[in-house]
Amino acid sequence: NKHHKILDTAEIDRILTRITHEILEVHKGADNLALIGIQTRGVYLAKRIFSRIYEIEGVEIPTGHMDITLYRDDWTRISPNPIVQTTEISFSVDEKQIVLIDDVLFTGRTVRAALDALIDFGRPDRIELLVLVDRGHRELPIQANYVGKFVETRRSERVNVLLAEHDDEDQVIIED
Ligand code: 5GP
Ligand code: MG
Repeated sequence: NKHHKILDTAEIDRILTRITHEILEVHKGADNLALIGIQTRGVYLAKRIFSRIYEIEGVEIPTGHMDITLYRDDWTRISPNPIVQTTEISFSVDEKQIVLIDDVLFTGRTVRAALDALIDFGRPDRIELLVLVDRGHRELPIQANYVGKFVETRRSERVNVLLAEHDDEDQVIIED
């Protein structure tokens, strides 16, 4: 078993600050912005972006989350149909600029399921994707607008994302 650290606490911190500024630059502020975190760690990342936008712009932007399960036997064998379990979006998505947020982008199937579910909620003006790690191996034509770090992986490897809210500390490790 090989462990290889690719992001430490300070790097994750700087990445989230950098991406927050990218979002605010692209959108020229926080008007009509909304965040939706996917599953466990995307939700924590969304909360961190929310706090940074509040610090910079002084506004609390609407934030929701989605729980999506992609049934896999392991990290290499994938069932093609992620299931959207629950969705908590307590604001209207109509005319919003929505940033979907997840920890790792891999085949793209989870994001596809999230887009399907989101489009059932209404008519956002725009949907973008933010991921902390893009590990490659896409099976669908899906790319992220904001990427923390591109990491070349083998299919058999796993990217372990640890976040303080859930795992006591922030770091990203590749495990074989
Ligand atoms: P995809 O649907 O793109 O194949 O996989 C993305 C989803 O599965 C994300 O919700 C992500 O949390 C999870 N995922 C896929 N690969 C990895 C990985 O190597 N590490 C972690 N932590 N999550 C992964
Ligand atoms: Mg996930």
